[in-house]
Amino acid sequence: MSDSTPGRLHVVATPIGNLGDLSPRALETLRSVDAIAAEDTRHTQKLLAAFGARATLIALHDHNEAAQSAQLVARMLAGADIALVSDAGTPLISDPGFRLVCAAREAGIVVTPVPGACAAIAALSVAGIASDRFVFEGFLPNKATARRERLEALAAELRTLIFYESSHRIAATLEDAAAAFGPQRHAVLARELTKRFETVLDGTLPELVERLAQDADQHRGEFVLIVEGAPEGDDDTVLVLGRRAFSLLREHLPPSQAARLAAEISGAPRKRLYAMGDEAP
Ligand code: SAM
Repeated sequence: MSDSTPGRLHVVATPIGNLGDLSPRALETLRSVDAIAAEDTRHTQKLLAAFGARATLIALHDHNEAAQSAQLVARMLAGADIALVSDAGTPLISDPGFRLVCAAREAGIVVTPVPGACAAIAALSVAGIASDRFVFEGFLPNKATARRERLEALAAELRTLIFYESSHRIAATLEDAAAAFGPQRHAVLARELTKRFETVLDGTLPELVERLAQDADQHRGEFVLIVEGAPEGDDDTVLVLGRRAFSLLREHLPPSQAARLAAEISGAPRKRLYAMGDEAP
């Protein structure tokens, strides 16, 4: 017979590399719930096995989350306690779980966090870049044009920027970030945090591009890229904006008109923008 009191949804963070980062409360929760909704059940099975734990696992990933959420909510309403985990770190942070959390909350189910590792926060905590105000951007678009547009749109952001990146695209992303944000921006590249080959590189964006070009090992693994925000009222920022406006307007207008409008929009000197028309993009 089912319990008439609804169960809870426990959103449980798991390690991003070092198994020692699974908290005692996370382990206790994973052991005690009726079922665990996991991004990859085999991955979570291995994590549990490393702690001598067993549980009923239910796959919950981007492709089945809508349908699976309804069933999980029904189970919780009938009294089951469910834990939500992703493969690494905190669920919902560039990981599945958003729909399940919304559905549970809508159904009046108590959703409770069991906090722990998150790569973005771990990287920020060691970066030495302003941590009082920051923006989490997650993964940039895969396609080069969309990625550059997103970066250019962020060029004037004053807050510290945090990106996730994979080994396949890290070199291209650093190059695009250097082009969009200019050569002076301080950045930190945190690789393989909490793992054997943990590395935290810092420098300007072109310096980081160079470091990766010189050392193939620095392309391996998982990355968090942290970039300092645009300096307030900085000429560079105004120029970056002006340049962006100019290149967009120049697709539709003669260069002189595009430079005049871009200068009005950004506050950058018209002649400087006009001269940029001859520079390589
Ligand atoms: N939910 C996770 C969290 O809380 O950080 C993030 C999941 S997302 C699918 C995976 C991305 O997180 C990786 O591509 C990388 O950008 C970042 N990441 C995860 N583990 C990392 C680690 N140990 N070191 C550096 N970055 C990591």
